[in-house]
Formats: sequence, structure tokens, C-alpha cells
Amino acid sequence: MDVSRRGWLGLAGMAAASTQASATTIRPMLPDPTGFAPAPGIAHLKYNENPLGPPASAIQAMADLARSSWYYADDAEGRLAAMIGKRLGVPASQVVLGHGSSEVITSAALAWGKRGTILLPALQFDEPLLYPMAQGLNYRRVAMAPDLGIDLGALARAAAAPDVAMVYLCNPNNPTGMMLKAADLLAFAKALPARVTLLVDEAYMELADDPAGSTMLPLVQAGANVIVTRTFSKLFGMAGLRIGYAVASPANAAELRRHRVTISLNAPGLAAAIAAWDDGAFQQQSRSAITAARRVLQAGVAKAGTIALPSQTNFLFVKVADANRFAAAMAQRGILVRGAWGPAWPEWSRVSTGRMADVERYAAALPELVRA
Ligand code: PLP
Repeated sequence: MDVSRRGWLGLAGMAAASTQASATTIRPMLPDPTGFAPAPGIAHLKYNENPLGPPASAIQAMADLARSSWYYADDAEGRLAAMIGKRLGVPASQVVLGHGSSEVITSAALAWGKRGTILLPALQFDEPLLYPMAQGLNYRRVAMAPDLGIDLGALARAAAAPDVAMVYLCNPNNPTGMMLKAADLLAFAKALPARVTLLVDEAYMELADDPAGSTMLPLVQAGANVIVTRTFSKLFGMAGLRIGYAVASPANAAELRRHRVTISLNAPGLAAAIAAWDDGAFQQQSRSAITAARRVLQAGVAKAGTIALPSQTNFLFVKVADANRFAAAMAQRGILVRGAWGPAWPEWSRVSTGRMADVERYAAALPELVRA
């Protein structure tokens, strides 16, 4: 099958780009008998997934687990929380796991939404807030800076209002891919009123140029009123396995747990996450593959004579004539990308890194469609 073969070749190219390529940690892209993967011929560049994952270590762990999946996996949840806490420098009790980071963000919105208003940047991923919004969540969107970055000054001014309970922001941001300067975000966090909790969604942090220098985890370690969320959906390539987590102070962690949306996580997801957490070779490969695919996208954007925002993630926000028309024209060629994020940004279309062959198809189609 042509697409699978090209997937293989693309994967080989991506692996070669890694300094620590290890043939045993990645799996070949074979035809998918389940119908869960994109159909042959479809370039799925729409949801910021990572086609390199899950690593072989995680697939083996899920296969081993299958027979034991008759019981609730609470013990495994404790084990994973301990592993995460050990690496991130907090006790396991300060790690709150969820069905993807979405669940813990939803819990945060449900809990803090009872106390007051939640602020978020206008141009930002907000899906975990949809359920709380349907329940009547009070929230306010704050305008972006002229370069479409998060406007920390405007957020700080808005957070001075006495009804504000939480600021929710993504760093790096989705859909822009842009990073805030760590020093600016630290200063912002420290200047927030004590009653305002800062939730920093770091779903893409492991893909950033300098994760250690950019994360807000040190604030959590220092006991600040800050919650950091992370996920196994991006670097680890496990979006369908639905495992994410928050790292928070003991009090904030307890509050998140009190507002859990569901009981007991899914056992295959936990097994995979436990196996992948210490698979450093895979994580290196994943970063390298994503960076290589992003470079191909960036080169395609330049060649097409347009621009993209500076991304430190597995996606680019690309300027086109009309994002909805552009997405429809790409879809006609079997390439799935995002249309306009909202009426305020009709010219920006998000494309995810994906299998190298798919990213190359996008780059090849771009010059003709960018002004469609
Ligand atoms: N946060 C951001 C910024 C995202 O872009 C996404 C998904 O795309 C998520 C969180 C949700 O990820 P999860 O799969 O962990 O629920």
C-alpha cells in the first residue's frame, strides 16, 4: 500500500534525524486494521497528534496488560504519579492524573469557577472549558498582543478585578505555537493577587527549545498558587490513550481531586504511560522527528511566500488568504488542516506536524492554495 510504504520511508527519515536513533523504540507504520488511524491517502494534520508514538515499550506494556484489565487500575495510577513526581520534583500526592490533561483542566474550571471568573487569552485552546461553560462558568477572554502573542499586561490588568479566581493560559500556546518569555511569565505569576490561581497548560512544553528554562514547575515546587498541566498526548504520541496530569500545591491538588470528572483511569493508558515515561530514547526521537517535520513545514511556508508564527510546538499557524477556503481546498487533496480558529482570525490556518510524507504533501500543495 503506497501510503504505508511512504509512511515507512518518512519514519526512517525522521529517525535518521535523531542523534539517539534506536530502531527498537519506534514501531513501523503498518496498515491499520482497526480503522482508528487515518484512511489510506489521508494526511491527518489537524489535531496536533504525534504519529511516532506510542513507543514500542508502551505497546508491549499494553499487550501485557490486556489480561489483567478486569480490575480498576488505582494502584497503577499511584505508581505513575510517583514516577512523575520523582522526575518533576514533587511528592506523588501533588500529581493529579486525568483522562488527558483536558480532564484536570476541566476539574480546575469546575472548582475555581465556583469561586469566581476565569480569564483566558482570546486566541487559545479552550475545549476543556466547554463543559464548565455549559454549566454556566463565568469566564472572560482577554485580547491578544498585536503579534498574536499572549498579552500578559492585559491579563494582569484584567486579573485585578475582584471577581477573578483563575487565569488559564497555554505556554506554548495553541493555536499560535508561540512561547512566552519565562522571565515575563514568572514576573506575571508573582504579581498576581494571592486569590488568583494561575493554571499554565504545558501540553507542548516538552517540545519547546528549552523546556527546563521555560516551565513554571519551579513555582509549584516553591509552593506558589500555580497549577501546571502536562500530557502524554503530544511528546509521547498517545492522544488516544487519554493520560495527562496536573502538578499543584497540596491544597490545589486536593481541590482538583475533589472535582474529578470520572473515577479510575483507563488501564491501557496507564500501562503505556508507565512504560514510556522512562523511555528516554523514544522521547529524544520524538522531539527530533517533530522538529524535522516542523522545519519542512517552515520551508514550505517560506517557499509559498507567506508567513507562520514562530512555533515551538508540533504545529504552525500559517497565514493564508482565507483559512476556511484553504482548509476546504486542502481537504479536496486529502490533506486535513484546521480552518479559521474564529471570526477574528480569518486568515490563519493551523497545520500539525505529522508523518513526514504527509507534511511534504502539505508543503507541496501550499504555493498553489495559499492564495486560494
Ligand atoms: N492543552 C492544549 C494546549 C492542547 O492543545 C491540548 C490538545 O490538543 C490539550 C491540552 C489536551 O490534551 P489531552 O489530550 O491531554 O487532553
